Amino acid sequence: MTQDTKADIKSLQFDELEKLVERLGEPRYRARQIADWLYQKRVQSFEEMTDLPGGFRVRLAEEFAFGKLNIVRVLGSRDTTRKFLFRLADESLIETVLIPASPALYGSRSDRRTVCVSTQVGCAYGCKFCASGLEGFSRNLQPNEIVDQIIAIERETGEKIDNIVFMGMGEPLANLDNVMRAIRIINAPWGLGTGARHITVSTSGLAPQIRKLADEKLQIRLAISLHGATDEVRNQIMPINRRYNLETLLAACDYYVSNKKQRLTFEYILIENVNDTPEQAKRLGRIARRLGAKVNLIPYNTVHGLPWSRPSPEQQELFLSIVRQNEVAATLRREKGHDIDAACGQLRLQTKREVQSAVS
Ligand code: SAH
Ligand code: SF4
Repeated sequence: MTQDTKADIKSLQFDELEKLVERLGEPRYRARQIADWLYQKRVQSFEEMTDLPGGFRVRLAEEFAFGKLNIVRVLGSRDTTRKFLFRLADESLIETVLIPASPALYGSRSDRRTVCVSTQVGCAYGCKFCASGLEGFSRNLQPNEIVDQIIAIERETGEKIDNIVFMGMGEPLANLDNVMRAIRIINAPWGLGTGARHITVSTSGLAPQIRKLADEKLQIRLAISLHGATDEVRNQIMPINRRYNLETLLAACDYYVSNKKQRLTFEYILIENVNDTPEQAKRLGRIARRLGAKVNLIPYNTVHGLPWSRPSPEQQELFLSIVRQNEVAATLRREKGHDIDAACGQLRLQTKREVQSAVS
């Protein structure tokens, strides 16, 4: 929520904007004008919508909030991955990552600029390796707070974003309604106009929500954070697996693939001595082949205060080659930005700790 309990104007769908202008006694075309100010001209207040009658602007401001994300910190430079720490209206902190030339994953060409957005403040799922879950869950992000991450980064950098991944802080499928609202705004021609195939949602495995997403019309992409090819391994590092085990998760994936006629991506972070054995690679390869899914191997990014690390480059390559023996399209991220590409949730954690130690 924003400071007050008013809904934010940037959480509305187009038909809701139309209903709103009608209710306020204005002609329908005002909805188009408002959308244009919000998503094309990108003003930051109702006053700036100068082709709307003054009284109407005042009414809008009375009824709706006009949120803005404040940049607290930026890490990285133009040629590298950049991380943005934002403060929301209620002082919560979230982070968003801009990846300049993403690997040709998630339907993107390598010259595309990708933004990795957050969907919640914190995360309730508590995966053992992840910084976002370390301090628990605070709240869901509102649709406007999701859309505004993209708008704020485009404004700050002057760069056009053409690929969006929901892989920042939080579990997108645990905030599915708001995430879908945001996605419709991001995708719509009256909104940000990003093609559905350039939008990827990532989940740690909320099986019932995967089925719900499969019933959505939009052809957005789905990535599953697998990180283990047996219940034994997944149970160790992902508490969600005790609720929806591998069999339940894979059945939901099957449903998704057959409903959507679309390939999934399995994400698999490689953690030394946890999930990096040849046996896991073999099983992962088999699972991916059965579902016709792609595999994206990601060497683990160390999180301050957590005991995990990435396997050696040789071990990573061996794992990749075993997965590929199953004729599966698999890639291994060999990124350089390791220093700042610290996994999502970390910049926030670090800033909070600095603030805490400064006041104590
Ligand atoms: N909650 C969703 C999306 C956010 S996490 C999910 O879990 O899929 C996005 C991805 O980052 C997930 O695949 C997650 O497992 C991964 N991740 C989390 N911590 C990481 C770390 N320290 N190093 C590398 N990847 C990490
Ligand atoms: Fe939450 Fe995803 Fe991190 Fe797990 S990996 S704690 S689901 S953000």
